[in-house]
Amino acid sequence: MIRRLSLTVTMLLAGAAGLSPVLADEPCANPKGALGVSRIVEIDAKAGPLYGGFTKYEKEPRFLGPKEVVLTFDDGPLPKYTKPILDALDRFCTKATFFYVGQMAQAYPDMVKEVMGRGHTMGTHTWSHPLNLRALTLAKAEDQIERGFAAVALAAGQPIAPFFRFPGLSDSGPLLAHLQERGIAAFTVDVVSNDSYIASPQRLAARTIEQVEHRNGGIILFHDIKASTAAALPTILNELKKRGFKVVHMRSKNVFEPLPALTAELEARQTAKATGKTANAKTPGENPKKLVPFYAPIATANLETEAAPEVTVLEPEARERVHAGGTHATASTPVTADGEAAATGAAVGAAGPARKKARHRHTREKDPFSLTDIIGGSW
Ligand SMILES: [Zn+2]
Repeated sequence: MIRRLSLTVTMLLAGAAGLSPVLADEPCANPKGALGVSRIVEIDAKAGPLYGGFTKYEKEPRFLGPKEVVLTFDDGPLPKYTKPILDALDRFCTKATFFYVGQMAQAYPDMVKEVMGRGHTMGTHTWSHPLNLRALTLAKAEDQIERGFAAVALAAGQPIAPFFRFPGLSDSGPLLAHLQERGIAAFTVDVVSNDSYIASPQRLAARTIEQVEHRNGGIILFHDIKASTAAALPTILNELKKRGFKVVHMRSKNVFEPLPALTAELEARQTAKATGKTANAKTPGENPKKLVPFYAPIATANLETEAAPEVTVLEPEARERVHAGGTHATASTPVTADGEAAATGAAVGAAGPARKKARHRHTREKDPFSLTDIIGGSW
């Protein structure tokens, strides 16, 4: 399992290291029914690791053990649904990772701040959510990624995690190489709730739990712009608790540094909007000050031990992001009892010697592993 992976895995008690957050001793309001946070995985993103089962590219080994889940929410914020989702997470004293769209974050900056203020991790999901980044030129796709980060960080008013998820999970070699160069960790998924297509909260909860059981846990994909997700989440969290699943909270060891020119452009646009005048674009300033990521207190200790959740630090080395071969792990690949994907194509522990650009074309061809192609539609 995790201990035998050739990663630098350090076990620390939360609060013991300089970059770890200070954890509050606030008790969970409902410890009996709560999920809590069983442990924290702190990811060093500087080598641009790729996590999650659903990709055909070389990726890092799964960091979750059996019956461990990570909760993730894409596409927001949208206060109407984001707020009840935050409330449900609070009621269960647990934490999630949000991958926000730049334009949405600019529209609802207070919501971005609230998500982070309530202790969740903030990543990004492009500027305007094009359905398939691979269909864009490389320059436009990279701008989507960079602009999304700059916009979400600006809305947050504080450093955000260098965590990214591709819309439709449409990754590509050149774009993954860009993420590696920029020190951004990419996350696909292990469990698709399918909340983009299921309107009934009951059906959504049943489908999600069925998939979580089938995969023996994993990174779960939700969207906090869906009514069904907001309605089904309490049931899903309750079922996870009843079935003995544990929530792992992902955090970043580093902060993302947006491109100063993009931040300046977005700020100028904001100012112009606020004043109703055309503002001159500011000259790009110094690199943003390096700050320790802000994490709100986790008001939920590990509910079993009543201690602060332990922190596992992952510091993967750079690896060449090549196709993983013919037996790719996909979202439909079951996970064995020890938490490994049954048919993973990842070379576990075989970190590449140096960071290199993948040589794959920026292709538009149909991808047999694309969830968009399998499920249809877009999300
Ligand atoms: Zn999306």
